Amino acid sequence: MDYYSKQISRLIEEFSRLPGIGNKSAQRLAFYIINQPKEQVDILAKTLIEARENVRYCSQCQTLTDREICPICQNAERDQSTIMVVETPRDLAAYEKTGKYYGVYHVLHGAISPMLGIGPGDIRLKELMERLQGEMKEVIIATNSSLEGETTAMYISKLIKPVGIRVSRIASGVPVGGDLEYIDEITLLRALDGRRDL
Ligand code: ZN
Repeated sequence: MDYYSKQISRLIEEFSRLPGIGNKSAQRLAFYIINQPKEQVDILAKTLIEARENVRYCSQCQTLTDREICPICQNAERDQSTIMVVETPRDLAAYEKTGKYYGVYHVLHGAISPMLGIGPGDIRLKELMERLQGEMKEVIIATNSSLEGETTAMYISKLIKPVGIRVSRIASGVPVGGDLEYIDEITLLRALDGRRDL
């Protein structure tokens, strides 16, 4: 049943593939695009394609960047021997916003979830272990306090402890199931300061 033209239906279909976009929102976006000046749509399309082509994973911390090595990993003033392990680039951004963390990061791009069939091999753990070959002082595990985040934290600490590097976990002042990115800066800093050794 095509109420709209084929082109609009296709546009709606593409939008509804995006996370968090239901059919209603997809329709609203599609009509919005159709009513925009063509130049505006060109810019949007070009931005999408360029972002997809140029953004890649930092070869050290695995966050998204448009360089081989991201600005944080490249910054000589950051403590390269302290690594904070987070689930997503958004979690990294949340800690960066506090402006009070001077180490570097490692982005896992997910968490271990037996229920969803996500195992240790599906997140960027191998890359983390490779980084630990160098001179390392501490690994701070800042995965979310959800079941998946806790499972991941336990798994990582078991992997790293035999290597002889200090492993700590941020305090769980963070509400259970809470996504790091929604938590205010003071709570984040308190969680970091109150971290305990694993
Ligand atoms: Zn990096």
